[in-house]
Amino acid sequence: MSDTIKKDNEYIASTYRRFPIEITGGKGSLVFDANGKEYIDLGAGIAVNIFGMCDEVWQNAVKRQIDSFQHTSNLYYSAPCATLAKMLVERTGMKKVFFSNSGAEANECAIKAARRFCEKTKGKSGKIITLVNSFHGRTLATLAATGQDVFHKDFLPVTDGFIYAAPNDCAALERLFENDIAAVMLEIVQGEGGVVALDKAFVERAQRLCSEHGALLIIDEVQTGNGRTGALYAYMNYGVSPDIVTTAKGLGGGLPIGATMLGERVKDVFDFGSHGSTFGGNPIACAGAVSILERLDSSLFQAVKRKERLVRSKLEGAKGIKGVSGMGLMLGIETERPAAEVISGCLARGVMPIAAKSKVRLLPALNIPDNLLEQAVAVIADEAAKQ
Ligand SMILES: *Cc1c(COP(=O)(O)O)cnc(C)c1O
Repeated sequence: MSDTIKKDNEYIASTYRRFPIEITGGKGSLVFDANGKEYIDLGAGIAVNIFGMCDEVWQNAVKRQIDSFQHTSNLYYSAPCATLAKMLVERTGMKKVFFSNSGAEANECAIKAARRFCEKTKGKSGKIITLVNSFHGRTLATLAATGQDVFHKDFLPVTDGFIYAAPNDCAALERLFENDIAAVMLEIVQGEGGVVALDKAFVERAQRLCSEHGALLIIDEVQTGNGRTGALYAYMNYGVSPDIVTTAKGLGGGLPIGATMLGERVKDVFDFGSHGSTFGGNPIACAGAVSILERLDSSLFQAVKRKERLVRSKLEGAKGIKGVSGMGLMLGIETERPAAEVISGCLARGVMPIAAKSKVRLLPALNIPDNLLEQAVAVIADEAAKQ
């Protein structure tokens, strides 16, 4: 056992069941461990390293900013966050951005915005509808938003004010609007819930119900966002117009960042002092994110869709594989063998997928070379076919 693993086991809170692998470096879609073993990376740090490990364009943007200055408080103006906000607004049609440091915080901001909007427009508080099997984060409010009891267990009481609808059940969603509703919050593709894309008709119904009831549609694009599904944001595949979009993970390309984008109806919901973050809009994280967003263009989205077809063509109908779910390069593979066995078989052979519920999950870098992807998928197919 390596010294790092011993130290980690002794001194780090036991919240993560880690694989016995110590990562020491990587380049693009290859990562290396402390034994010099090489893996094809299909997790990208959970959809974070959009252009892979040690991407030079991102590294240079970050290095330039480090040489300039590392941080200032939000008492003053600084260029990287202003530039990033302008780019996000121009590319989404949203109107304003609040920056934080993680997906959970981006969602916290969305929840606060929705509550405040409801108070201001209706003069009373309203509930937020989220979906069964959703995942919105680990803070107490986002835990409450997460529609999975297993995450609430032992942490009661979680924050009040959330009610849950079954995904794709339009009638059940409509019934919940008998309550005072501030917002509906959903992931277009439920990630941690098992890589399940919502039906377009359900998302459209959610949008319609929200506008009929003066409620807000919040889309959590923390995992699906930033090109992952073959569009800049996954809601764009569905033709809906959310009031609030949250994102994080891939936006920073490897540094912590969260963004909450506010649309026309809520652009002025916050005023001085009503929300804040010390690190939010950090210049280094934002300079890196600018370099990421600049490269998320239609040719990359076409490539993501082509790579999705490549994976599906090799795995759908293959021996031991029950199905492939998801969208773009956010895919879930349902195998006859337990996913954990398939994953450990893959790891032994230098291929690094992750899990989502009972599925093998793929979240590779968006620029993973076709030959590496094909090689990795062949290993997955081979492991899935074993008895
Ligand atoms: C990962 C994730 C979050 C939480 O993000 P953190 O950065 O871990 O706080 C929230 N929502 C979704 C959909 C996620 O996938």
